Amino acid sequence: MEDENSLVVEILHGFLGNERAHNPGRAQISFDCPVCSYDIKGLDKGDGKGNLEINYAQHVYKCWACSETNGTHGHLGKLIDRYGRKKDREMYELIRPDEFIREEKQKKKLVLPVEYKKFKDVHPVHIPRREAYNYLKRRGVTDEMIEKYDIGYCEDGEYKGKIIVPSYDSNGELNYFIGRSWNPREKFKYKNPEAPKELLIFNESRIDWSKDVWLVEGVFDGFFVNNSIPLLGKFLSDLLWETLYEKVEARITICLDGDAWLDAVKIYDKLSGGRLYGKIDIIKLPLDKDLGDLRGDVPPECYVKLEK
Ligand SMILES: [Zn+2]
Repeated sequence: MEDENSLVVEILHGFLGNERAHNPGRAQISFDCPVCSYDIKGLDKGDGKGNLEINYAQHVYKCWACSETNGTHGHLGKLIDRYGRKKDREMYELIRPDEFIREEKQKKKLVLPVEYKKFKDVHPVHIPRREAYNYLKRRGVTDEMIEKYDIGYCEDGEYKGKIIVPSYDSNGELNYFIGRSWNPREKFKYKNPEAPKELLIFNESRIDWSKDVWLVEGVFDGFFVNNSIPLLGKFLSDLLWETLYEKVEARITICLDGDAWLDAVKIYDKLSGGRLYGKIDIIKLPLDKDLGDLRGDVPPECYVKLEK
């Protein structure tokens, strides 16, 4: 462990230069941030501020000045891949912790199932296509939504019998998809790829941050209101919280299923502060209803005013 720590420090010296502070007991070391100093300010000698803090036992880094604006935080491997020399990257591979390798490989490898088909590419009388399509129609999903959200389906393979809805991250890269069974007798309604839901934002690529944003529970709810983010559950992840805080320019409307009112209030409390104070609306649906049931038509009396 000692050896590994000193190797990481040596690698860091190699491409970041001299440290500005170092606490070996806590495995904390700080350097001038390459992102703020070089990329932004155009300084090739660093800005002398030592804002880039690294914990080499935990293999994480964060810049106190630009982590929010430039995403300068995360696993140390990302920093070394981006700013290290070839030699630094090779040395780091020797001690790179396993769990991070696995995580990063998983992220890179996510692709849609090979059996995924678009509705428009299959003849309408073909039976599985018709079943899948009729299921969507029953839930109020229109042809425009199918087109807009890249909705497809699988008639074979691991996702056989599932409607597929892909999710793309802010760079337009696939970061998740859901597989929803169209057969009501199927025991498992959903089959989704393994991915940490708290580390992804469903279809962030489709969000216009200058407009009002809706927070909804499920992907199907999201089809019925503009500019919506499905939580894939009833909780607001820290990642989504931070992203909303940073990016939302207009208002946020929280609309969970009718049976999740208390969870909706928790999200309201979490969001309603700082620069988002006074910009959060909340909707209380009838107990047995969700946005999909209502096709996105929320009766005016469901808008609730909360004190805060
Ligand atoms: Zn920085």
